Amino acid sequence: MTRRLGSGTLVIATHNAGKLKEISALLEPYGVKCISAGSLGLPEPAEDGTTFVQNAMIKARAAAEASGLAALADDSGLSVDALDGRPGVYTADWAERQWFEGEPGRDWYMAMGKVEGLLAQKGADINRSAAFHCVLAIAWPDGESAVYEGLCPGSLTWPPRGELGFGYDPVFVPDGKNQTFAEIDPAQKHASSHRADAFAKLVAEQFGS
Ligand code: IMP
Repeated sequence: MTRRLGSGTLVIATHNAGKLKEISALLEPYGVKCISAGSLGLPEPAEDGTTFVQNAMIKARAAAEASGLAALADDSGLSVDALDGRPGVYTADWAERQWFEGEPGRDWYMAMGKVEGLLAQKGADINRSAAFHCVLAIAWPDGESAVYEGLCPGSLTWPPRGELGFGYDPVFVPDGKNQTFAEIDPAQKHASSHRADAFAKLVAEQFGS
């Protein structure tokens, strides 16, 4: 049987204030007090796994071991069927500008263009199916762990459409919709996203009756 969190303090293995806020709001109703790895001054481990599960576990374990508290980490990204699951765990890396591409930082239009360029090379009738993945991993200091995998299937469109959202949202059309994630009301996206799917599974097992 999977270990349950119960109420108490949970370290959220992120240095991103937005993620901490979003995750805290989801877990507060269950009596969980969230603190971030960043506010505890914990170092960020290298995310050198080759799957979303491995990377989420690396982050959760590192935070649990360093803090002595239960820790939760997430890892997410886009996998494209015709590209054998790429960019996968490298989803954010594909947006990283190279030294010859201007100021360091992330350029999501460049990343979406890379995906589209690779699909275009495969021909006009290539399968455009893709999915956003989100893995949530909980690690306890004694080595126990639990993993929840969320998925949002869809397809890729070109050119990008919409101003809402972030990352690859302007090219991703979730199954059953005609609009991209960047055209859909964010509340509606959040209710049906890969993150919502993973959280629903976590809440059902960790806090369900
Ligand atoms: P990480 O999980 O913070 O490492 O993020 C991985 C990357 O996946 C993000 O930087 C985004 O580019 C992409 N990604 C994850 N979820 C979404 C989403 O809901 N919309 C668009 N891009 C996403």
